[in-house]
Amino acid sequence: MKLTDSQKHAAEYTNSPLLIVAGPGSGKTRVLTQKGVFLIEEMDFDPKSILMTTFTIKASEEIRQRIEDGTSKDISTMFIGTVHSFCENIIKQYGGGDTYPEFQVLDDFKRYLFVKRNLRNLGIDLDELKKLKRVQKDNELIVMLTSFYDMITENLIDVDSLKSNILDQDDNTIVKNIIDYNLKKDVEINVDQVKILIESVIDSYKKYVALMEAYKFLDFCHLESIAWNVIDSDDEVLAALQNKFQYVLIDEFQDINPLQWKILSRIAEKHHRIACVGDKNQSIYGFRGANPNIFDYFEKEYPNSKRIDLGDNFRSKKDIVDVSSLFLKRRARESINLNPMRSDDSSIFYVEGETEKEASRGVLNFIKDLKEKRIIDSYGDVAVLFRSLKYHGSDFIKLLNMDFKDISYSLYGGISFLGNDEIRVLCFLLGYVFSLDDRSVVKQLTDFDTLFDVFSSNVIDEEVDEEHDDLNWTLFLNEEDLISRGFSKALSEKIVKLNILRDLISEKDSAEIQTIFYQLLGVLDIFSLEEESNKIKVIYNLGRFSEIIEDFVGIYDRKNLLMFFNILSAVPENVNLNKKADEVEVVDTDALNLMNIHQAKGLEFPVVIIPSLTSRRFPKLKKSRALLSIPQHFYLYDPYNPLREEENLFYVAMTRTQDQLVLSYFNKYNSGLNTKISSFFECLEDSLVEFDDDFDKINVVSSSGEGLNVKLIDYSAISTFVDCPERFKINYLYGFKAQEIFMQKVGLIYHNAFAKINAKLSKNNHVLDEQVEKILDDSWINLGEEKNNLFRMRIKAGIKRYISFISLDLKRVVGIEQPVSLIRDNIRIRGRSDFLYENQKGEIVLMDYKARRLANILDTHVDLQLKFYADALKRDNQRVDKAVAYPIDEEHLNIDDACISVDDGGEVYEVLENFVTCIKNKRFEGSKKGTLFCKECPYRFMCKHFKGGS
Ligand code: SF4
Repeated sequence: MKLTDSQKHAAEYTNSPLLIVAGPGSGKTRVLTQKGVFLIEEMDFDPKSILMTTFTIKASEEIRQRIEDGTSKDISTMFIGTVHSFCENIIKQYGGGDTYPEFQVLDDFKRYLFVKRNLRNLGIDLDELKKLKRVQKDNELIVMLTSFYDMITENLIDVDSLKSNILDQDDNTIVKNIIDYNLKKDVEINVDQVKILIESVIDSYKKYVALMEAYKFLDFCHLESIAWNVIDSDDEVLAALQNKFQYVLIDEFQDINPLQWKILSRIAEKHHRIACVGDKNQSIYGFRGANPNIFDYFEKEYPNSKRIDLGDNFRSKKDIVDVSSLFLKRRARESINLNPMRSDDSSIFYVEGETEKEASRGVLNFIKDLKEKRIIDSYGDVAVLFRSLKYHGSDFIKLLNMDFKDISYSLYGGISFLGNDEIRVLCFLLGYVFSLDDRSVVKQLTDFDTLFDVFSSNVIDEEVDEEHDDLNWTLFLNEEDLISRGFSKALSEKIVKLNILRDLISEKDSAEIQTIFYQLLGVLDIFSLEEESNKIKVIYNLGRFSEIIEDFVGIYDRKNLLMFFNILSAVPENVNLNKKADEVEVVDTDALNLMNIHQAKGLEFPVVIIPSLTSRRFPKLKKSRALLSIPQHFYLYDPYNPLREEENLFYVAMTRTQDQLVLSYFNKYNSGLNTKISSFFECLEDSLVEFDDDFDKINVVSSSGEGLNVKLIDYSAISTFVDCPERFKINYLYGFKAQEIFMQKVGLIYHNAFAKINAKLSKNNHVLDEQVEKILDDSWINLGEEKNNLFRMRIKAGIKRYISFISLDLKRVVGIEQPVSLIRDNIRIRGRSDFLYENQKGEIVLMDYKARRLANILDTHVDLQLKFYADALKRDNQRVDKAVAYPIDEEHLNIDDACISVDDGGEVYEVLENFVTCIKNKRFEGSKKGTLFCKECPYRFMCKHFKGGS
């Protein structure tokens, strides 16, 4: 499709800083893509001199693919990614001081777990704090505390100044506000007590940071703040980045936070070549620190900047665009002119229900009729977008499970993920085999009472007679008993296997949750669902659940299922259980989509339904993000008004629609309490039409395509693939998490230590013998009580050997942890080279470390890896004369023996072609490996190729 004049203008304008205000459906991605192509092809920018940030990894991979399609140049070295990954690169390549040369980034759920685990180590008197009525439960407190911490980090607030500013106020305004606004009735607390509380809350920030440091964790905001410190405190690093990145492009500008803007605008400061694309009215991530007011500062910071508006809407029918514009107008919002480019129109309907349940039923009947009357091809064409799926979606889910079983559905995002059938079934079965006596906690997560209830689920899919519902299932250890009662052979087999597992666990009195989870997947023969394309999402969701389990056991306990369930059932709504921040990958295109509006950002659907438009639900009355209000002058930019964000959410939801928008409300909660219509609905009421069951008025012409399916895969996946394609599929495609095995942990310690040593050497510092102990401490990963001591001396010796070797061989450091990547048919393979240096002979050496002896180093496929890295570096004009697979465990190493020839790239490309073909064709044959290899495989219990499994 040709670009419109304004799109072309936006894509090709480079004379000054540029702000592109892009309304919904205005082809923003096309403009960004075209801009990338224009800069490379017409303006001759080297791809690696362009820095483009986007909001999600998925979006960046799609843009990368489209740019690649538009240019003949190799763009694998162009940075297109999230601000977080950019910050991670800065820290890894330019160092984050001695504290953070290596770390694990805490995503939403893991951070929640981490703070929960350490809540009593933060120095806050929790009982005193709970006198404030807003802070009743630990999970609420954790959300408030982490929001408070983020605000401090994102705005670079000095906590000591904040403390004195609040506590030294003559009139104690802030303190009194807290008392007036928060205090529970009947609770006595005086100003001095509140001051002590405030002090402890502010002080807890430093304790939280110290705890993260101790455990080598970083939250997303600290990732940014450390990257900021690196560039702000080191002129050489700043100059290197400014020289490297000649053009800065920022997508989703309305969702940027103050610190991200400081980092990116500092990099653009030298050349003033910057373009930002976004729409203030679509900003919905205030709870993550996004501040769309930065939009207004752009023009102040760049007075010679240009603004281009993209108001043509190519996505939605005319009425949808008109009503969305009307909404903004009636809410007195500033907006660019939105012009519908589609000429077809359709009324905006609403469905009313007397009660909440009736409204949900009405909506589901409507969806069912759409399919039955062939107005839509599949349920995947419809999205029900909730303000809060957790709180407003339960009637929908119950009805779908009971009365609308023929509508397959997918739940995305937030903690509603836990409501998916397969997750409920697995939680129930875990409780069953672990003989969890506390049924109430299982019930909270699963809604099932007995095994009987789970048989007719999506996952087990077996009809069982009602007369069997009160059987004592635990007694059956013999298939014949069940078969004689009329059960199928397959189901009898499963029940017996479950009971054997249950007995085994109770005999052993201890079992690891993750292992048992995989055994259950084996019992259920979960991979047989691969045959049915509409069941693939079950496997993906279980893969994600395995990560959630691993996150829990990484911070808590490998065996405490009760604790795991208790934590899961109390996870607050805004802790995201999705894989990546709000990234939704629709894996079942035939299933009805139920999601929070936040998850629908960037997506579009032929039919959109916005339910629960009642006064208290939407707009939602927002509580403040933090425990105490931070005085305005501490913020880098004016904070954004939360009510505006509610309006934005509604606007975003409406504008996801291509063909048919339906709103829904009810008059009474199921409890019988009356409610009123939402003010958002009211302000559009004169433009809406009550749906009268006349389906002839609905015309759906769009359909939910799969979109660009671009995959991003780490290089380590290739080594797994070469070992066993099936294992690759389970691990990397479906996302089943494997516990790190012991030798991997040892390898990681070496790796961490060598990175620290290399960083010191890059600054021309020698590594002294007495520093080894500290390097070892900073690099250490817990190997388990017994092995910590046993392996410490051995690892220390390995580190010393490396120091002696590298100190003699090194002339100059060329790169540490340099990212490399390669694109093949929508698949981008990326990796990081461990070390690149010039040796005393003037050769450029590419080095990779392996915790092996020389004799078996090739078992790791390091030769392929080095060939791949060397080739990627050479394409980036980096000379590589020699590649070395450094065998860490080799005590008397002649380095020439560890050299790998990287001249012949043929072999590696053969493997890559095979790899890409397997992924594209979804065929992973040749998977069976020798029994020995399989015996150590974490997936053996559920792998269909491993006969010794469950
Ligand atoms: S059990 Fe064996 S065949 Fe199955 S995934 Fe693991 S290594 Fe591959």
